[in-house]
Amino acid sequence: MRVYDSLIDLVGNTPLVRMRRLTAGLAPTVLAKVEYFNPGGSVKDRIALRMVEDAEKSGALRPGGTIVEPTSGNTGVGLAIVAAEKGYRCVFVCPDKVGPDKLAVLRAYGAEVVVCPTTVAPDHPDSYYSVSDRLARTLPGAWKPDQYSNANNPESHYHSTGPEIWEQTEGRITHFVAGIGTGGTITGTGRYLKEVSGGAVRIIGADPEGSVYSGGTGRPYLVEGVGEDIWPQTYDPAICDEVIAVSDKDSFLMTRRLAKEESLLVGGSCGLATVAALRVAETADPDAVIVVLLPDGGRGYLTKIFNDEWMADYGFLSAETEEATAGDVL
Ligand code: PMP
Repeated sequence: MRVYDSLIDLVGNTPLVRMRRLTAGLAPTVLAKVEYFNPGGSVKDRIALRMVEDAEKSGALRPGGTIVEPTSGNTGVGLAIVAAEKGYRCVFVCPDKVGPDKLAVLRAYGAEVVVCPTTVAPDHPDSYYSVSDRLARTLPGAWKPDQYSNANNPESHYHSTGPEIWEQTEGRITHFVAGIGTGGTITGTGRYLKEVSGGAVRIIGADPEGSVYSGGTGRPYLVEGVGEDIWPQTYDPAICDEVIAVSDKDSFLMTRRLAKEESLLVGGSCGLATVAALRVAETADPDAVIVVLLPDGGRGYLTKIFNDEWMADYGFLSAETEEATAGDVL
């Protein structure tokens, strides 16, 4: 029978899909690495699996142990799936600004969720940081993966995402573009692609305007999962040849176009990375092969990016609306 014994066997080996419409008028090939094909719906399944398996090997996580991590998003889903498959308890600590749907997803996978107030200082005993540290210290058999300092985060991409892209493009990739959050994706994938190509593949980070990676101070932005106000250990700045800053507006309008024009219903950081990839395509050689990594699917963003009122409230919709009106008249 052609069956998988575990959902874990389905992590990775995501497809590369050619972008055909957004690239109109551009000669280079632009290929999307579509990470929502992972079982938990995002690129983070890769790091969850490797962080857990390494902790099992080192003895940091023992049978019957508990995974404790401050996360509300994709990493939580990845960890919850791996924990459920392997029989660990999962406790996630989330700030109270996280929407009810995201908490419901984590609970649906069997995780326990502790919600903390965002209005208290980081050193307050009820803060997100204090509570996750305390739980990691006091729960029996607790282990905290800490995706911002865990070397298995970039390592997972060095051993999976990078080799997959190299094989899928038969070594023809010339540029790799990805958003930077923890930096694990770009650091691990980029390092592998540089090594295997003898430095020929150009690595380009995409960053929200205002974030530190593109020279900002950590000024707020709305795109989720990317950008930082601190420099995490999981990011190696030496890997990136260039970091392109993209505005929230451009990121979200491109996210909507990805769904409409390429049938890729994906998240806001995918729009951000695609804007950067298309900017690269504008000046690259005609025979360039540009791979852009799309971290997650778009269903988690229906009430924001794909909601006209939300977009209009932030002043993001005007250009697109004008375009639609002109199209209707023609
Ligand atoms: N986009 C989304 C939606 C994410 O959840 C993440 C992970 N924080 C990223 C992009 C960035 O990936 P990385 O942490 O590997 O830099």
